[in-house]
Amino acid sequence: MAEVTKLIHKYLRHDKKFPHVWCPGCGNGILLGALIRAIDRTGFEKDDIVLVSGIGCAGRLPVYVDFNTLHTTHGRALTFATGVKLANPRLQVIVIMGDGDAMAIGGNHFIHAARRNLNLTAIIVNNNIYGMTGGQYSPTTPYGALATTAVYRNIEHAFSIAELAVTAGASLVARGTVYHATMLDRLIEQAIRKRGFSVLEVISHCHTQFGRRNKMGGAVDMLRWQKENAVRVEKAAEMSEEEMAGKFTIGVLVDRDLPIYTEEYRKIREAARRRLGAVK
Ligand code: SF4
Ligand code: MG
Repeated sequence: MAEVTKLIHKYLRHDKKFPHVWCPGCGNGILLGALIRAIDRTGFEKDDIVLVSGIGCAGRLPVYVDFNTLHTTHGRALTFATGVKLANPRLQVIVIMGDGDAMAIGGNHFIHAARRNLNLTAIIVNNNIYGMTGGQYSPTTPYGALATTAVYRNIEHAFSIAELAVTAGASLVARGTVYHATMLDRLIEQAIRKRGFSVLEVISHCHTQFGRRNKMGGAVDMLRWQKENAVRVEKAAEMSEEEMAGKFTIGVLVDRDLPIYTEEYRKIREAARRRLGAVK
């Protein structure tokens, strides 16, 4: 059996969850493929993995796979994931969110999950817009772009998901694109294996809500845009600010070892137990 067929049989659900809801050509399908290839490489059993999502097109991803899955409320995926990880630190918890889900509605949860350095992986699909809910602008919609809630133009300034994650204290921060699919497999694997809060920003495209409205063309044109504007971190280090204008870096931005919340929490609980035992 071909490798891809084996992976499909092993990891996708076959109980009427297909066809999926994504528009033809959406980057979410590429991410789904990269995710199951990366998990397969880690060697974890399906029951070791918990996939958690909130609401949105990317949030549908856990619905299609045969792991432990939680499809939760808008912006709150990291809070559910925190509970799962604290209840059973042995589990490999992976959270899939979109830019609106993670950065607007769940923005505060994101900052504090990174600051606490929970030992889990957050994958944020950044397609610069709220796709599923109808093309509203999000915190990553570029200044001047058009959206259903910015019909003249967006007058808010976008921020960088990856740079926010670095500043908030995540252990590993990386950025990839759905165009660079092989690299995406590797980045997801590295993020899952990392001990600490790992963040992977995945630059994707929403050609139906963002691309057409902003004259970026269809899915293929937007994939070409990713190819032409992504610069590997090693190369970006040698380029000037002018040369990097309008471009973005891909690869691992930060990889550092910091105390992990779940381990610190376990130590506190043990100390409290000892103290209570001594009092008795
Ligand atoms: Fe993908 Fe956009 Fe369609 Fe959602 S609305 S499935 S993000 S192309
Ligand atoms: Mg989005």
